[in-house]
Formats: sequence, C-alpha cells, structure tokens
Amino acid sequence: MNFRGRKPLTMARVFQFSTQSGRSIPNATPALDASRPLAPIAATLAGIGLPDAGEGRGHAWGFSPESLVARAGQELGPGDIGLRIEPNLRTERLYEVLAFFPGRPDLPAQVNGRPWRSNGPPYPNVVIFRPFQSFTPRNFRDLVEKLSAPGAYVTGLRYEARYLPFDSDTLLDEVLPDHPQTDAPGGITVSGSRSRGQRLTAARDGGSVFRHEVFSAYRRSDNGRVECAACDLDDERVLEAAHVIDHGYAQDAWWNGIPLCRNHHRWFDLGVLRLEPATRAWVSPHGLAALRVTKTNLSVEARSPHPQALDWRWLNVAGPE
Ligand SMILES: [Zn+2]
Repeated sequence: MNFRGRKPLTMARVFQFSTQSGRSIPNATPALDASRPLAPIAATLAGIGLPDAGEGRGHAWGFSPESLVARAGQELGPGDIGLRIEPNLRTERLYEVLAFFPGRPDLPAQVNGRPWRSNGPPYPNVVIFRPFQSFTPRNFRDLVEKLSAPGAYVTGLRYEARYLPFDSDTLLDEVLPDHPQTDAPGGITVSGSRSRGQRLTAARDGGSVFRHEVFSAYRRSDNGRVECAACDLDDERVLEAAHVIDHGYAQDAWWNGIPLCRNHHRWFDLGVLRLEPATRAWVSPHGLAALRVTKTNLSVEARSPHPQALDWRWLNVAGPE
C-alpha cells in the first residue's frame, strides 16, 4: 500500500530497526535507552508545525541513505511504529515516529547530547521518536512471523531497517494489554496550564499507541465495539482518541482520553463541546442537538477520564469568545 501525506492512524506502518549491527551499536544506548529533552530542536519542530513538541522528550536516530525506510517516496512519517531489535534477537519496546528529517545529521547530536558515531558514510536521515513504550519481551523473529502472512517475512542475516508486512493495529493488539491493568492513578501530573481562551494551535491526537489504549479502555464488553462518547457512531475508521488534557501537558494514558468521532473531536478541541466535570455531562452554548450529540453524559461509558483531567480541561479550554 502506498501512503502519501498524513496516514490514517489505523493503518500506520510498522518497521524494524536494528541496534545490533556494526555502526548502530555505539549509537544505540545514548539514542534509544533513555529519552531526552527535545528543547534543543524546539525551533526545528515548530518549523514543521509541531510547536509544543519541543517541550517534550524523545529519541533521535539516524538512517543511512540506503535504508529502506529512508528512501525517496518511502520515508518514515508521523505515527509509524518502530520495533527495535535488541541483543539476542529480543524485542520489547515500540518507538513512535514524531517527525522525519531527511538530510539533517546535526539533529541527533543536538538531542542526544553527543555526536553520532559513524565510521562509514554519514547517517543523514533522522527520525525523532516519542519516548518508547515497553511490552513483555519477545523473541523478535517469533513475533514478526506470528503477525505476518506465511512467507511474507523473510529473515536475513542482518536485521536492517525495513517495513514489516503488517500494520500498527495488528502489532498493538498483540503486544499491548487489551485493557488497562490498573485503574486511573490517584493523582496525575500536569505540566502547565493554557491561558484561558487560547485556541489550539495543533490539535493532534497522540498516535497509534494512545489510540489503542483509549479504545481498549472504552471498548464495550458486550459487543466488542467502541462508540463515539458523544454520539452513536461506532465505525473505528471515523473514530479518534481525543485528549482531555491537551497533548504535551500530561501523560498519553487512557485516563486522559475519550473516543470521539471526527466531528465531535473537532468541536471538543475547539471548546465548543465541553464536559462538565462534576456531572460528566456534555454542554455547549450551541445546544447539544445542534452538534448532533445524542448522549447526555459519560455515565454510559465503561470508563471515564480522570477527574483531574476533566477539571483541567474545564478550567483551561474555554469556548470561542
Ligand atoms: Zn460523535
């Protein structure tokens, strides 16, 4: 399948990348075992429309021009999921692409705080990942062969970066738990507050992993379906995971999200559609009927966002003046 521009998150690509061969070994630990502040490249991220990404943390990794995931027309893009091959053919972490920068070998040094180690050609094509997500360690080859159609994945002697023959939903369904293992935490950490009335500059969803967590939390046990929390739509192709506390201000966890159809997500982001924290009831100055809201509140949902998250949104995201 050929993707151009922004991909539907349900069909994000999965790629493997190695930290076992030659030149990647000395770069693996500083680049991938710990996330680092993205502040040094905040201006670069803002320049591609990610103004708040520079406040977060991430990883920077370089790919050679020959890499299959960096070739013209096949470059990695936001939302793609990297499956890292670790020593002894183990895999246990997912890396979600935040941005891809061809021809910017300076970026890894800025993020990782040290030069990119390379004794051969430079690695000019740079991926910025969000902090990784862990899962129970698996044998890489067993996992990939289990998820691929028979014969679709051929292992080689060297495990170089390439796309895998299944999409992110297939992978996440396999490695992440179906339902959150614990309830919402007692207290949550929010890193700031928006000025009242400020409009969202980048109303982004949090990518495949966040979507998976939120949908798993809200999936109905009786029919296995996920519905928009404001209307009856249950087609996952038009459902999205909406942040309650804006992306970048708190953890991308299920308790900070609700499933919404695209229309209700947009109205929610704009502050036109709001959730009253005490009652978890939908409210809108336009009236709920005008926005085609068919559910009065979240009480029919199996789960609910964290009360502190609802409070934060109520205080920080006002409707249009
Ligand atoms: Zn809806």
